Amino acid sequence: MLNGKTALVTGSTSGIGLGIAKALARQGANIVLNGFGDVDGSRAAVLDAGKAHGVKVAYHGADMSRPAEIEDMMKYAAGQFGQVDILVNNAGIQHVAPVQDFPVEKWDSIIAINLSSAFHTTRLALPAMQAAKWGRIINIASVHGLVGSAQKSAYVAAKHGIVGLTKVTALENAAIGVTCNAICPGWVLTPLVQKQIDAKAAEQGISIEEANKQLLGEKEPSLRFTTPDELGDLAVFFCSPAGNNICGVAWNMDGGWTAQ
Ligand code: NAD
Repeated sequence: MLNGKTALVTGSTSGIGLGIAKALARQGANIVLNGFGDVDGSRAAVLDAGKAHGVKVAYHGADMSRPAEIEDMMKYAAGQFGQVDILVNNAGIQHVAPVQDFPVEKWDSIIAINLSSAFHTTRLALPAMQAAKWGRIINIASVHGLVGSAQKSAYVAAKHGIVGLTKVTALENAAIGVTCNAICPGWVLTPLVQKQIDAKAAEQGISIEEANKQLLGEKEPSLRFTTPDELGDLAVFFCSPAGNNICGVAWNMDGGWTAQ
């Protein structure tokens, strides 16, 4: 379905970004990976997912907190496979502390990585999408783009911000075949969440299994984690013809978290 298209997924060397990169590769899109850590393992996993279509995979290690590196990545991505048709803004970090104790440098990095990077990639990707009269921008927000949780001021502010950016980008491009939508996951068991589970277990002197149960029980009525593969399939849906007229939604996949 996506043969001949190119998808750039930020923060795709782990967790949700890697799941989405694999899902898009399964549909035949060439992939530009980004992020830190296990680059070779991620590249191999995405190549394997796209094997049937002979997809190509490139990588750029831009730090999403640095606009100059983001510009370099966007030029690189266009140079590799023509142009970016599908942009998935996924890179993100978390830090947990009450507002009065929130480290200022952590606030700045979370706003830069979880919000401003999406503005930069989007402004740089749009002209080619507009010229082609087809494009998909998918912002990985969170349930925290819709509701708040204590101790997560920077994250919740950034995620509400990216839902706003999603709506405006969708409106400005609604008539020209370029859609922009946000995905709002609840708990997904990735390294970002594992850190919070480990901290909960350590603080309360309970097992990881018990901490998992507590975490889900507090917020998620389905009592299970969403998987990166399920989120990948939702991203594919937005890229399918069924997504042609879906503009500016913040689509939760959260086991009922925000239905309460
Ligand atoms: P993760 O820690 O598994 O992956 C984060 C990815 O971002 C990694 O590839 C990492 O290398 C990359 N990254 C981090 N800082 C970067 C930087 N400065 N520049 C470039 N890349 C950088 O986390 P995840 O859980 O897969 O999170 C992915 C996205 O999903 C984030 O935006 C997160 O807020 C969002 N999200 C996660 C959950 C969850 O429960 N895990 C829920 C809702 C939303």
